[in-house]
Amino acid sequence: MPDVDRAFDIETDLLVIGAGAAGMTAALVGALEGLQVTLCEKSDVVGGTTATSAGTVWIPGSRQSQRAGTPDTLETAKTYLAAILGAHATDERLETFLKAGPIVLDYLEQKTSVQFAAPPVHPDYKNLPGASIGGRALGAKPYDGRKLGADFGRIRPPRREFMVLGGMMVGKTDIPALLAPFRTWTNFTHVLGLLARHALDRTSYRRGTRLLMGNALVARLFADIIGAGVDLRFETALRELVREGDAVIGAVLKTSAGELAVRTRKGVVLATGGIGWSSELRERLFPDAARRYSLAPPSNSGDGILAGERADAVITRDLESPGLWMPVSVMTQDDGHVAVFPHIMLDRAKPGLLAVNKSGRRFVNEADSYHDFVAAMLRSNALAASTAPAHLVCDRSFIRDFGIGLVHPGTRNLERFLQAKYLIEGETIEALAKKIGVDGDELPQTIARYNRYAETGVDEDFGRGSSELNRFNGDPDTKPNPCLRSVGPGPYYAVAVWPSDLASSAGLRTDAAARVLARDGTVIPGLYAVGTDASSIFRGTYPGPGTMIGPAIVFGWCAAMDAAGGLRTYLG
Ligand SMILES: Cc1cc2nc3c(=O)[nH]c(=O)nc-3n(C[C@H](O)[C@H](O)[C@H](O)COP(=O)(O)OP(=O)(O)OC[C@H]3O[C@@H](n4cnc5c(N)ncnc54)[C@H](O)[C@@H]3O)c2cc1C
Repeated sequence: MPDVDRAFDIETDLLVIGAGAAGMTAALVGALEGLQVTLCEKSDVVGGTTATSAGTVWIPGSRQSQRAGTPDTLETAKTYLAAILGAHATDERLETFLKAGPIVLDYLEQKTSVQFAAPPVHPDYKNLPGASIGGRALGAKPYDGRKLGADFGRIRPPRREFMVLGGMMVGKTDIPALLAPFRTWTNFTHVLGLLARHALDRTSYRRGTRLLMGNALVARLFADIIGAGVDLRFETALRELVREGDAVIGAVLKTSAGELAVRTRKGVVLATGGIGWSSELRERLFPDAARRYSLAPPSNSGDGILAGERADAVITRDLESPGLWMPVSVMTQDDGHVAVFPHIMLDRAKPGLLAVNKSGRRFVNEADSYHDFVAAMLRSNALAASTAPAHLVCDRSFIRDFGIGLVHPGTRNLERFLQAKYLIEGETIEALAKKIGVDGDELPQTIARYNRYAETGVDEDFGRGSSELNRFNGDPDTKPNPCLRSVGPGPYYAVAVWPSDLASSAGLRTDAAARVLARDGTVIPGLYAVGTDASSIFRGTYPGPGTMIGPAIVFGWCAAMDAAGGLRTYLG
């Protein structure tokens, strides 16, 4: 911990470390509330994991949900959270989140360009009392990247695996038209519009400027930060916090020109994106099978959490899970790029696919949320049979209709994927079992059983297709169960999937104003932690879409408001 007597190079009111959703919200709100704000970002782009995300925020009881005709209430959300969290549902941070959420959305809508809208259907992830089908999860409105001019290049691009035609973003609502452009006139004109815009973009930009989801959210925050006069410094990383007694009074930053010591009048906000790639924290906190892959950008390496610990903060450990998980498949591309594909929702819930462990048995409702899918992988791995990796199994018609991982629907020539051993092919189920190293007696029986369930429409083992979420991601044309259809004649295919983290839930212990707590439970004056640097208010559960960025924005706002002295005005 650097000595307080050291000379400071600059002074500011609020120093925010990390430019993802949490840090940028804190910086923006701080500046709007009259603070002098410095925002430092380790990489040369803003956005962090947020820029590569779906950009959904889970904020119950919003005016936006009423406006969309899918009103949500705080009461039903509380019922739902009580069903998930039990006694922990009365946590004061959770209370603050629920109370502040709608206020923060209105604040942003009125004072900034950060706008959200509620799609009619976006179900919660658990089939429990109080679950919402729509109105609780809101999406960031799209953004025209051209408005940023030269600064457009400062937005972290989405994951390459999620773009098409060398840099065009595709939203969920674009997919039906792109898959069947000639089915209807509307599809045709939609696709034509997308292609024309993208072709035009590529004459002036390195990628498409029609920004969606997390990329749109980041672009909106970035544009506003520039407008609000935040002192934003790229390639400037937190090295150490500076303390005076128990209080944090600044930080030492690492820049290409050397160290920069910043004195803060109102506080330091840690927003460096959680555990990320920190091998020390992964080893300490994650189960062995979940350490290998992370969906965090390389610049997220646990810096905020580790610096917080050195300043007497503690990591909350008594959580249901230390990470929030996603199954990923991995393929080395021809140009050497290692594509890591997150299986969010495009294939797992579709009828005709099943997931098996090394014993050739199913271990999960494949159509459940990505977090629940991997939680089941980790359980199987610890208690039954290896799932490192597990395999997604299907027939040829499944790939034609829905695609699998990196293989897009309708792909005729599978050679590239077979050559790379991304896709494994077997003429018979037994041959496939042998190639992927699972029990060759068991796999045919597992598939026969699955096929029987497809006929009756009832998955007696795992209830696939029984929840709103399952059916939302299934295939509406498949009856009676949109998530079940028989696996037909060979050849058969498998893709290996591994556990990875899309976010960490174990972070620094904070209070309802996002202030970091010391080992003895007292507030560390001058230190805030938000986003994934703070421990999850949902305690390592994943209630619904947007339950990471929702709290990241709400507590980013709370931290800045507290530093500016305005939190009580809003929350009483
Ligand atoms: C594919 C995918 C989809 C997802 N979709 C959703 C979704 O729709 N809704 C949702 O709620 N969650 C989603 N998530 C999770 C969500 O994206 C993250 O939990 C959230 O964006 C984290 O925000 P953050 O601000 O805490 O960190 P980040 O957005 O990761 O930002 C952290 C920033 O800090 C910078 N940084 C790191 N170290 C330092 C340092 N020492 N000094 C200065 N800067 C530093 C990093 O470079 C980075 O820019 C998704 C995740 C993935 C991978």
